[in-house]
Amino acid sequence: MKRYSAFAIAREALRDHTGWKRAWAKAQPKAKYDVIIVGAGGHGLATAYYLGKNFGITNVAVIEKGWLGGGNTGRNTTIIRSNYLQDASAAIYEKARGLYETMSQDLNYNVMFSPRGVLMLAQTEHEKKGYLRTAHANALQGIETRWISPAEVKKICPIMNIDGPRYPVLGGLWQERGGTARHDAVAWGYARACSAMGMDIIQNCEVTSVLKEGGKVTGVDTTKGQINCDKLGIVVAGHSGVLAEMAGFRLPVESVALQALVSEPIKPCMDIVVMANTVHGYMSQSDKGEMVIGGGADGFNNYTQRGSFQHVEETVRALVETFPMISRLKMLRQWGGIVDMTGDRSPILSKTPLDNCFINCGWGTGGFKAIPGSGWGFAELMATGHSPLTDEFGLNRFSEGRFIDESVAAGVAH
Ligand SMILES: Cc1cc2nc3c(=O)[nH]c(=O)nc-3n(C[C@H](O)[C@H](O)[C@H](O)COP(=O)(O)OP(=O)(O)OC[C@H]3O[C@@H](n4cnc5c(N)ncnc54)[C@H](O)[C@@H]3O)c2cc1C
Repeated sequence: MKRYSAFAIAREALRDHTGWKRAWAKAQPKAKYDVIIVGAGGHGLATAYYLGKNFGITNVAVIEKGWLGGGNTGRNTTIIRSNYLQDASAAIYEKARGLYETMSQDLNYNVMFSPRGVLMLAQTEHEKKGYLRTAHANALQGIETRWISPAEVKKICPIMNIDGPRYPVLGGLWQERGGTARHDAVAWGYARACSAMGMDIIQNCEVTSVLKEGGKVTGVDTTKGQINCDKLGIVVAGHSGVLAEMAGFRLPVESVALQALVSEPIKPCMDIVVMANTVHGYMSQSDKGEMVIGGGADGFNNYTQRGSFQHVEETVRALVETFPMISRLKMLRQWGGIVDMTGDRSPILSKTPLDNCFINCGWGTGGFKAIPGSGWGFAELMATGHSPLTDEFGLNRFSEGRFIDESVAAGVAH
């Protein structure tokens, strides 16, 4: 793999950019791999990357039914934070946030990580108490967050109206090293690094059934033929239930469309990320100037990967009291992605009833921020059978009643 550098950019500028190579190879399936990962979203690609980097396992195929990063990884609003309540969540999200800090250097790919700060607004007394509790929990977990007053909120986000008649701002939970990254670049960066290690990323190849023998997976049937493997990792977000059914077990997840929209580009006016959970909306400004606005999930289970008009209205209506300026903006685009929700709003990174089959899902509305931490832990689980990052997130927690309740931290869809 040719490294990207300032020198390379200058050299290519002088020769009409004719020297760039494909970022990842166009692979056709081999008969057998040590590991197959189904799903080339961020979590699947990160898993493959850390299998190679941390465990030297490179005979790996990542199989994708569409194009890589075309699922939720390329459809999310890119908020990165680790201010969760429970210790197990704080550990995996903070691991991920830390890896984001150095991801561009690690992958030699600019993922545009922007630690601009994430603010979770408190607009009811109940919410205020919840965030004060989270701030204390974060202090014990060694995660840097703090409770800030309404005056401080106004200072770091001047376009906000903090005296709204229905939902005045009572303060907020502020994580200064939270922020955003470029979602496509995260997928592309991992894909390029995996390809450089000799892994095959096979796009336009749908897994249609999981092949089993004596309680073990032997491979998968795909639209490009049968591919065998020693271990299988299922990392398909909203389609996890479908893949689990192919493998013969059930998952406690529901699939729903989550929606977002962007406005026309405007001059820089907001240099932080704001989440308003009570009214249910969140907003940041992209590098192009668009206001990126996240809305809610559809109120019914579905696999419809698109936006709907009532969500634009609901979301803008929710935010307009706190951000009056958005009433004057034209909305440019809206879309949806299929997210997989668990009852306790925490992910599943787990062994399955099949010996050599593992599942990584249930990230729901908030898994972009977790991609590197999840990939790190899930690779360790697949390679060694155990990881301190994933131990608490096993499927057995649902039968043992050991939930990791993150309904406050994940209360808004992001
Ligand atoms: C509108 C929206 C906003 C969001 N905002 C945020 C946010 O601000 N911050 C945050 O942290 N998270 C956010 N999320 C959640 C985040 O996007 C997801 O949790 C995360 O991207 C999941 O990544 P993944 O790799 O597991 O799944 P995906 O990126 O969806 O990848 C799964 C892949 O599996 C493939 N696949 C499915 N079935 C098959 C099959 N049979 N064969 C082969 N391949 C298959 C799919 O095509 C897909 O590419 C948001 C999500 C949405 C939809």
